[in-house]
Amino acid sequence: MADLAAALRHAHPELEVVRKQAEEPVYLVGGAVRDLLLGRPRADVDLVVVGDAAALAQRFGGPAVEHERFGTVKVEVEGHEIDIATARSESYPAPGALPVVVPAEDIDADLGRRDFTINAMAIPIDGEARLADPHGGEGDLKEGILRILHPRSFEDDPTRAIRAARYAARLGFRLDPETEELLRKADLDTVSADRRRAELERLAGEETAPRGYELLAEWGLIELRDGGLELMQAVADLFEREHWAQFAPREEVLISAALGPPGGEELLASMWPPTPGEGVELAEQRDPVELALARAMGADWIEHYLTAWKNVTLEIDGNDLVEAGIPEGPAVGRGLRAARRGRLEGEVWGRDQELAAALEAARGVA
Ligand code: ATP
Repeated sequence: MADLAAALRHAHPELEVVRKQAEEPVYLVGGAVRDLLLGRPRADVDLVVVGDAAALAQRFGGPAVEHERFGTVKVEVEGHEIDIATARSESYPAPGALPVVVPAEDIDADLGRRDFTINAMAIPIDGEARLADPHGGEGDLKEGILRILHPRSFEDDPTRAIRAARYAARLGFRLDPETEELLRKADLDTVSADRRRAELERLAGEETAPRGYELLAEWGLIELRDGGLELMQAVADLFEREHWAQFAPREEVLISAALGPPGGEELLASMWPPTPGEGVELAEQRDPVELALARAMGADWIEHYLTAWKNVTLEIDGNDLVEAGIPEGPAVGRGLRAARRGRLEGEVWGRDQELAAALEAARGVA
């Protein structure tokens, strides 16, 4: 890029504050450099200091939160969140294990622990703004290639294979052939279920999630459920709508759409549409994930449940039943449910009818 310094100042003016306080070399690193070179807007910033991250952060005087991770702090500068890490290098005692971490003497050592060349670049924020690019990331970025830094990369950390799907889907990049060969051999079972799940969730959080999962399946790293991709796309479309985004956890639904195992959604989607009263009772016993999947599979009644039936309320409440002599306990719930069913089915109108229906049901069973 012709004028990296100007691009950096323009994209992240808040870094001027850090530059003024920096006594040691400080670099913009990772995804922030990649996105700057691509001209993609980005909110969050990662910095690496060859020195003490906490000491640098303290000089701003702003609030700093120390992470549990090695030498990393989060600070707020002019309303922007910035992660500052101490430069470090890592070695892996066993495939998939957490790395042993030691401070690095220079930025190149820190870049050497990263996942792909396009994420292994740094720009010093000292105003000179030359690119530190020891692995040829800029060239790969121009050509749209994802390339690991060394042949053991996926053995050290197989979650990088999931990260590859994330970047490939988001940026439309392809794998370098040698990287692809090694990636196909990655063994996701050597990492903890939590770490694997965390990267799968990040992938599911992307706009291009269905493509990312399609790639993982093509690479032989996951097995999709039958019709999984179409279901993912239907779920992604569903969650464009605010009421769904509020009702169910999008990432979890997408992962379930991709990987299964199929649950109660298949039954919900294949059944005869229930009446409003039945539908509410049925839906209330189900997990929102299942309901979202069933809706994406075509169960229209769940849309009515979410946008209309669910919001039907009664004019009476439990106190009215207790005042009318119903003992506190399950009979009250039974009565209120009956009144609501009556309202949903259009058989009960207004407070008096609600109370009559509720009392009848509450007293109906001794
Ligand atoms: P995004 O653009 O989605 O925010 P990012 O590229 O900033 O993603 P992060 O997961 O936030 O990625 O990590 C920041 C940087 O740390 C990456 O760009 C990469 O250099 C490095 N990194 C993160 N996770 C790994 C990993 N598992 N192995 C190696 N390097 C990693």
